[in-house]
Amino acid sequence: MKLHEYEAKEIFREYGIPVPRGFVTSGKLEKVEGPVVIKAQVLVGGRGKAGGVLFADTLEEANRKIEELLNKSIKGEKVEKVLVEERVPVKKEYYLGIVIDRVEKKPLILFSTEGGVDIEEVARRNPEKIVKYYVDPQEEFLPYMARNMLKDIGLPSPEIPKVADVIYRAYRIFREWDATLVEINPLVITEDGRVIAVDGVVHLDEDAYFRHDYSRFEEYRKREDLPFAYVELPGDIGVIGNGAGLTLASMDIIKEYGGNPACFLDIGGGASEEIVKRALEKVLEREDVKGVFINIMAGITRCDEVARGIVEVLKKHPHVKLSVRMMGTREEEGRRILKENGISVEDSMEEAAKKLIEMLNNGE
Ligand code: GDP
Ligand code: MN
Repeated sequence: MKLHEYEAKEIFREYGIPVPRGFVTSGKLEKVEGPVVIKAQVLVGGRGKAGGVLFADTLEEANRKIEELLNKSIKGEKVEKVLVEERVPVKKEYYLGIVIDRVEKKPLILFSTEGGVDIEEVARRNPEKIVKYYVDPQEEFLPYMARNMLKDIGLPSPEIPKVADVIYRAYRIFREWDATLVEINPLVITEDGRVIAVDGVVHLDEDAYFRHDYSRFEEYRKREDLPFAYVELPGDIGVIGNGAGLTLASMDIIKEYGGNPACFLDIGGGASEEIVKRALEKVLEREDVKGVFINIMAGITRCDEVARGIVEVLKKHPHVKLSVRMMGTREEEGRRILKENGISVEDSMEEAAKKLIEMLNNGE
């Protein structure tokens, strides 16, 4: 789960990492105190380059630029809020990132004196400009470790303790919030020698939801609590199965016959009529979905429950193009319910997939 910049900076502030003074708004300002930076609060990267970070020196200019951003989309994401911040007098821009290295199975701290720009670019051109420090997850990460990390990269000595302090605090955030990414780019040294986090990116681990109260974050509040596994895909054929393996196989068979899955939706084992109904409704929420493939091998799942769920949804969506393959527990009953409602059930997934693709191609 991605946090907005202003949310990341709230956490930074709580952990004692210096951030610029500022506030979030989606309206006009009544005054500005000195030069400001206006930043679109979107979750896509490379915002600055895409025109999402603007500067203003007067109230009139600030309001004009706020309006400009609020009427804009940055890389397809509509801007709903902006962060207005004091403009920091930048002398140098550093990079700090903390991630999990999946190969080493350890948190990895990355630091570079070449900040502000795309860090992947630095990694390609000047890999020696990036210091890497693996943290032993069993041990505490202490301030002296952060200082050691910065020893040989040519930071002026008065900066080392200040930057190390930010690294130490950022790592605490990473651990205590179960983050998968904490990034400060740029971490700025100001003309008067202060260290300030001018940008902030924090991603939280969705598997750690149960350990935290994340309800203060926008993305968490928007999150839907679905009673099934759902992954949206770019195609136009909804794919519903029971069990991850069968659902993946269903996606393959759709591909095999020339179709493109619009989703992976696994209703799991023993799904009730209600869950099946919500699953099919979820798939049909998308207007670009042209047909739905349902593939059920019923064990603890019951074909009659699945059939009832489907029929409920068809009352609201009578014209949906549907192909069902269903076998196992209560198959007879399930087939009967579907048949009474004008839906036939195919015997194999190949037949079902073929039928659906033909239906869509013929525009039936
Ligand atoms: P990003 O493009 O989403 O990473 O947005 P950033 O918040 O990193 O801003 C992009 C760039 O704008 C930074 O790398 C800085 O060079 C510049 N910038 C942002 N805030 C300030 C500021 O307060 N003062 C100055 N001088 N530059 C800033
Ligand atoms: Mn940035």
